[in-house]
Order: sequence, then C-alpha cells, then structure tokens
Amino acid sequence: MNYSPLTPLDGRVAVVTGGARGIGFESAKALHECGAQVIIVDINRELGPKAAAELEADFFPADLTKSDQVTKLAADILAKYQHIDIAFNNAGIAVNVPSEECTDDQWHQVININLNAVFYCCRELGKVMLKQGKGSIINTASMSGVISNFPQPQSAYNTSKAGVIMLTKSLAGEWAKRGVRVNSISPGYIGTEMTKLGMSQSDWYKYWLDMTPMGRVGEPSEVAAVVVFLASDASSFFTGSNLIVDGGYTAW
Ligand code: NAP
Repeated sequence: MNYSPLTPLDGRVAVVTGGARGIGFESAKALHECGAQVIIVDINRELGPKAAAELEADFFPADLTKSDQVTKLAADILAKYQHIDIAFNNAGIAVNVPSEECTDDQWHQVININLNAVFYCCRELGKVMLKQGKGSIINTASMSGVISNFPQPQSAYNTSKAGVIMLTKSLAGEWAKRGVRVNSISPGYIGTEMTKLGMSQSDWYKYWLDMTPMGRVGEPSEVAAVVVFLASDASSFFTGSNLIVDGGYTAW
C-alpha cells in the first residue's frame, strides 16, 4: 500500500506501542514511510529490535502494564528527541475463556495491558503533548468495544476495548482546547498472530467471515492507513472519534 498522507509527517516523532509485529509493526512502517521518526515500544525483546532495524526506527523495550516503566519511557524519549508528536497506543492481548471460568489473573492481565496501559501511555505521553500545545494520540480499541464477538468467549477483552473507546472520548474532551487530539481505531478481524488461533478453527473462522459483509479478514495495512490519517493534520477536526475498520461487521 502507498501510505502518502494528505499532509506530510516529516519531522514528527511517533511512538508506536506493540510495534514489534502485527498492526503495530505495519503502522510503524506506514508512519516511517510518511516521514516520521518512529519509536517502537514493545515487551518483545526478540522481535522489537528486528522490527526497528527494518524501519530505521528506535526500539524502547517496556512492559506497559507497569506505570513506572511508562513514566520512564516518556522521559527517555523526550530526552532523546525533545518532542513527541504522535502516540499510537496499540499493544494488546486477547484471552478466550468462558466468563464463568475466567480467573482473576486472566481478567487482570487483559485489563492491565488493553486498558490500564493505554491510560498510562495517554497520561505520560499526553503530558508532553500538552506542554507542547500539540499532538495526536491514537488508541487501538476494537469492534469488540461496541459488539460482543461470536462464537468465542472474551468478556475481559470486550470490556477493555469498550473502556478504551470511552477513555478516548473523555481525554478528547479534556484536551481539545490545549491542542491534543485523541481518537481511537476499532479494527474488525485482522490477519495477525492474535487471530491465528481463530482463523485455524474452522467453526470460528466460518462465523467471522459469514458475519463480515466483505467476507474476509482485513490486512494490517488497512488499519495502518487510518493510523496515518489520524496522525496527520488531514484529520485536524477529528477528536474523540472512534473509526471502525471492520469490512462492515458492525453494519449488520
Ligand atoms: P499482536 O500481533 O499480538 O501484537 C501485539 C504486540 O503487543 C506484540 O508484539 C506483543 O508482544 C505486544 N505486547 C503485549 N503485551 C505487552 C506489554 N505488556 N507491553 C508492551 N508490549 C506488549 O496483535 P495485533 O493483532 O497486531 O493487535 C494489535 C492491537 O490491535 C491490540 O490492541 C489488539 O487488541 C487490537 N486489535 C486487533 C485485532 C485483530 O483482529 N488482530 C482486532 C481488533 C483490535 P508479545 O509478542 O511478546 O506478546
């Protein structure tokens, strides 16, 4: 895909969490192609440096569920680059377990990375942007934040993503007059490591395709294109929006 944005990203510093692979990696690639200096943040110390090397990007390892690591991350990036213009808060996990069997640990694990870590990143990177008087934050939610998936059980995941959508709206309202835009992207099923299990189970996969009007899963590049749009000044009147990228799944 050619990612040329309507307005260029030259000179912008873009932080991409969960950038070692999947949607994060493709978005990091897109932002890099559009002229941004990309910083990949990920817990995966094996894939992270490889991903960064491919994109002439920087790699900062972090477990984003630890707020002290996020605070240090923001300080380290600021010290090295002097400004932070774009934050794509995207790292996340899915756990498929019937709710009556979901343990405290499983619940907390999902909420910690999918929701709490997104808040820590918004707060710490947002503080830098508020001081600058400008910045664009993009949070990865999911169509699961507005519908409940079928047939796989994933109540913690769905709940975390609904939280991301509301967190996004709340911050957008608070920070709009101070120059910081906050939007979320809600992908439908996208072909990555996260969906590998479901795509290999014919009973799940059949439902996914049947319930998607376009009859296919999406490519990470089809989400990355929206990240570029929200990162750029072409989306200057967008804040608090949740852009659903799902091949029509939520239309039915
Ligand atoms: P992915 O391929 O599994 O990539 C997620 C990345 O996040 C991995 O590199 C992972 O590291 C990293 N990560 C996990 N926990 C972390 C932590 N505590 N701190 C820092 N990094 C951490 O997933 P994806 O499919 O690209 O999904 C990216 C985002 O899109 C997620 O928020 C997901 O919920 C959302 N989403 C995906 C889909 C889909 O169909 N794929 C649909 C809707 C929304 P490890 O490799 O070490 O785990």
